Amino acid sequence: MITAIQAIPSIPFLLTLALSLTLVHSSGDACTDGVDAASGVPCRPDDDARGHDDARRMVHIQRMTCEDGAVARWNSVDREMVRFKVNNWAGVTLEVALAVRRGVLQWNRVQPFYAMWETAREGADITIELFDDVLPGIVGATRVKCRNGREGIRKAYVYLGLRGVGAVEAQNMTAHEIGHAMGLGHSDRSHDLMDARLAEKDIDERTICPSNLNRAGLIAGTHSYAIPEKEWAEVDCAGRTRG
Ligand SMILES: [Zn+2]
Repeated sequence: MITAIQAIPSIPFLLTLALSLTLVHSSGDACTDGVDAASGVPCRPDDDARGHDDARRMVHIQRMTCEDGAVARWNSVDREMVRFKVNNWAGVTLEVALAVRRGVLQWNRVQPFYAMWETAREGADITIELFDDVLPGIVGATRVKCRNGREGIRKAYVYLGLRGVGAVEAQNMTAHEIGHAMGLGHSDRSHDLMDARLAEKDIDERTICPSNLNRAGLIAGTHSYAIPEKEWAEVDCAGRTRG
């Protein structure tokens, strides 16, 4: 019988390679869910951009890296699908488990890089491990197995801590971590799906944002890319897709 701790192969390794999705309690000056995290004063997400020339503001997206420092990407860009498997060690409810699947399959709704396909077999490209807790203050983490840039990502492992997490939250956490599994790092735009400061209690589903759909950026060998803020004009990435 395997325990939650045993199922995480190496905690230090996980910490160094994974980009963590941390809770938002003390996220400084960010405007999250309409309230400034530091002052508690109501704000708008775009407050962060005030004082800049909005037309020229760029959103920066980091990339995951391999052990040799090269950009991590699935090198077989002509592949048609990425197979994922969910291991439910935490015994989360069916509702939350289904939400995790929706978070993965959300990437199929937009022009996907690869089709996400669930498998029950071992050897999936992306393995998603559901736990009660990952680490204190961290609700999600992703490790990509990528020795060097030439070889590219061989496997990805997503860890989700779902104690007390609702369905919408679980879906958002999963979609965020799958972004990492695809090679995306964090975005510097508040409320982007790849914003590291995902709110603890999301009430809305987050849509996949322009920053995450830049195929040229994703397959490029650069450690980050930038796209104009104005590309958000047509897409509400704050997540109000239900209604
Ligand atoms: Zn993250």
